[in-house]
Amino acid sequence: VAKSGGKNRVRVFERGMREEVAAQDELVRDLRAAVDGGELRVLYQPQVDLRTGAVTGVEALARWQSGSRGLVEPAGFIPVAEATGVIDAIDDWVIGQACGQLRAWDDAGLPELRMAVNVSPRRLATGDLAVTLAAATRASGVHPSRLEIEVPEAVASGPDAAAGIRDVRALGVHVAIDDFGTGSSSLARLQDLPLDRLKIDSSSVALLAAGQAAGSLADAVIALGNSLGLQVVAEGVEQPGQLAALRSLGCDAAQGHLFGSPVPASAVEHMVRSGRPLIAVA
Ligand code: C2E
Ligand code: MG
Ligand code: MG
Ligand code: MG
Repeated sequence: VAKSGGKNRVRVFERGMREEVAAQDELVRDLRAAVDGGELRVLYQPQVDLRTGAVTGVEALARWQSGSRGLVEPAGFIPVAEATGVIDAIDDWVIGQACGQLRAWDDAGLPELRMAVNVSPRRLATGDLAVTLAAATRASGVHPSRLEIEVPEAVASGPDAAAGIRDVRALGVHVAIDDFGTGSSSLARLQDLPLDRLKIDSSSVALLAAGQAAGSLADAVIALGNSLGLQVVAEGVEQPGQLAALRSLGCDAAQGHLFGSPVPASAVEHMVRSGRPLIAVA
């Protein structure tokens, strides 16, 4: 009895595995079709200059508006896109959209915004990211310096990223380290890279409260950024106390729900046109 029960459990397990694999295959098929079928969207999250309170840039963030699955957040498709290589087509498309949107905002008379895009780890290693960025900026007529790529800390400090980062920077596109403070990066390696900004990860920002800023990880990241001559951007800022702490530490810029969630381009335009500072400026 014990033996056949074990066999049954194995069969149930195998069936579970098969169903999971089938579901994963279907997700990959749907995702490929989504890229070609126009189901991807780009939302833009404002980045605020902490000295002036003005929106000076945005981060482009992908969404999948699926006919059958509804709105899918990046956590639901970026990992599988990276595992299967579909991410390259997604990133190319997002970069094209982002450049076109910058151009549209310029044409509409908005103040010049900076556009940050996320790139997948493998993309930096394969070496053709600079080619894509050059083509997209040329096609849209925006200067490469208006663009910034966000490279996760863990990737940037790895051995394969340096050449890709240098190619991108040589084009004039800026480079930011994303999610800084989550990995164990080699500072020696980072120091050798042509970087522009560090983004303090939201997990460090979440630990901040007004009056408890000194000695925090955010404090250390800002000091490090300053010493390397980099701008520091905080992400995931949700509370006024976090904002106050970041300003007291000399953080340059911030993004987060306190200022605005990722929104469609039209909402960014509205926000920028209103000219209203998003924070009180002393
Ligand atoms: P990320 O680049 O670190 O993006 C920041 C994430 O934090 C975004 O999640 C954003 O919506 C979220 N966020 C913004 N403000 C707040 C806040 O105040 N509190 C909290 N808790 N979260 C906030 P999202 O849009 O779900 O993107 C998740 C990740 O997916 C991104 O992390 C990025 O690594 C990846 N991703 C998104 N779009 C793309 C893309 O086009 N290409 C690639 N390769 N990766 C992408
Ligand atoms: Mg999200
Ligand atoms: Mg990012
Ligand atoms: Mg991040």
